[in-house]
Amino acid sequence: MNKPTIVLIRQDLRLHDHPALYHASKEGPVIPLYIHDESLSQPGEARKWWLHRNLEHYQKSLEAIGGCLLFDEGKLEEVLPKWVKKTEAAAVYWNRLYDPDTFERDKKLAEELAADGIKVKTFEGTLLLPPWKITKADGAPYKVYTSYYKALRKAEIPKPVPTLKSMSVPEIVDMHMQLADLRLLPEISWYKIMEKVWDPGEKAALKRMKRFSNRVQDYDEGRDYPAAGIHSTLSPYLSVGAVSVRSLFHHFTEKIEKQTEPFIKQLIWRDFSYSVLMHFPQSPEEPLHEKFKAFQWEENAAHWESWIKGRTGYPIVDAGMRELWATGFMHNRVRMIAASFLSKHLLIPWQKGADWFMDTLIDADTANNSMGWQWVAGSGFDSSPYFRIFNPTLQSEKFDGEGEYIRMWVPELKDMPSKYIHSPSAAPDDVLEEAGVKLGVNYPHPVVDHKAARQRALDRFEKIK
Ligand SMILES: Cc1cc2nc3c(=O)[nH]c(=O)nc-3n(C[C@H](O)[C@H](O)[C@H](O)COP(=O)(O)OP(=O)(O)OC[C@H]3O[C@@H](n4cnc5c(N)ncnc54)[C@H](O)[C@@H]3O)c2cc1C
Repeated sequence: MNKPTIVLIRQDLRLHDHPALYHASKEGPVIPLYIHDESLSQPGEARKWWLHRNLEHYQKSLEAIGGCLLFDEGKLEEVLPKWVKKTEAAAVYWNRLYDPDTFERDKKLAEELAADGIKVKTFEGTLLLPPWKITKADGAPYKVYTSYYKALRKAEIPKPVPTLKSMSVPEIVDMHMQLADLRLLPEISWYKIMEKVWDPGEKAALKRMKRFSNRVQDYDEGRDYPAAGIHSTLSPYLSVGAVSVRSLFHHFTEKIEKQTEPFIKQLIWRDFSYSVLMHFPQSPEEPLHEKFKAFQWEENAAHWESWIKGRTGYPIVDAGMRELWATGFMHNRVRMIAASFLSKHLLIPWQKGADWFMDTLIDADTANNSMGWQWVAGSGFDSSPYFRIFNPTLQSEKFDGEGEYIRMWVPELKDMPSKYIHSPSAAPDDVLEEAGVKLGVNYPHPVVDHKAARQRALDRFEKIK
């Protein structure tokens, strides 16, 4: 029998379009191996729950086609060579990951394995195209999204590889560890609402893709309205690779005869975020525009608490923060409003907000998250200018006119008339009384006054201009 190939399983928990598994399986027996390694980055608690559930599904999917999924933990560069030795594997394949530390570590590991005579092959299984494919003519990275988008749209996106239908594993495979041994699930089951909202696994991801195909024609107009349910909610699945971005691309550009380009544009933002992260590895921590290094931020524990708990007195911000806490997700428009409120109205450093998102989002993704925060804070490439400060009340009136989203997540305001639900502190006493809202008792007064906070932010910006 052929010597086996180890396939490292990481953010690619699927059977469709899995180049590393597909090519390894064509060549002989395969050992799919998931090594949980927190040495380079620690996933947040919500993310760990999501990862556990998806690994659980993936193990069953692999078993159903004659395969298996093995688990281990520790530093990849220490654990993997032991597996190579133990299983007498002749080759190791993986789909590439692009956060710079992981990429560098993997490159070094590939060289070491190759020096030991092990065949190493890496594949594109994460993005539409590897970040080095879309650059300016002189090889410099794009800093403007539209140019990146245009260049990528001219390139050919390879077709997905066929879905794996069967595979063979070596006869004796020592199970070593069970998924539960990785201790990804928190001891206290605070994730009950998440269990209700999210179906893990590839089948659920493909079901969402299909469902979204029926409403993609409304995406351009409807995606900014959090209660409309038009957005795809595919990011949690993309983040663990339960769905392949190339499969999404080809599905929506070839099989769906509707206007799909606005959605494709968003998928390309994801590739762009990775390109920025690869070329500017400091972007999760440092502002990309130098002048922001001198920006004077505030430390205010009470304001921070009000933001994370969804008690700022600005209902749209509070609804978003509570959606995040309960479900591990927040609608994109609301992410922008909540992030803007933290970094501009409260002047709390965007990095602190970004860390909170990384800890609480199930789709937590370093590239997209730092791109999102830098964009909102005005310190990133091609960002919203700093002086464009969202008015949370106007944003709320525009994108959640009837207050449906607010009513869902801020139940103490559910009986407020639509006219006042966006700014309860502006409501007359009798309106508040009739809706059962007691400001300062069951719903907070605004923690800052919008006009004053806006002016304070502009004054700070003036100092670094
Ligand atoms: C402050 C802030 C933080 C964010 N943090 C994350 C994060 O940690 N992880 C994450 O996946 N996205 C993040 N985003 C981007 C975006 O909010 C989410 O991808 C989107 O809300 C996911 O919902 P959806 O799948 O329904 O998106 P859809 O609107 O249906 O879009 C489809 C897909 O396109 C990609 N996409 C959409 N918008 C963006 C964007 N602005 N940047 C990059 N890719 C995008 C996502 O993969 C998404 O799943 C952040 C945005 C902001 C403003």
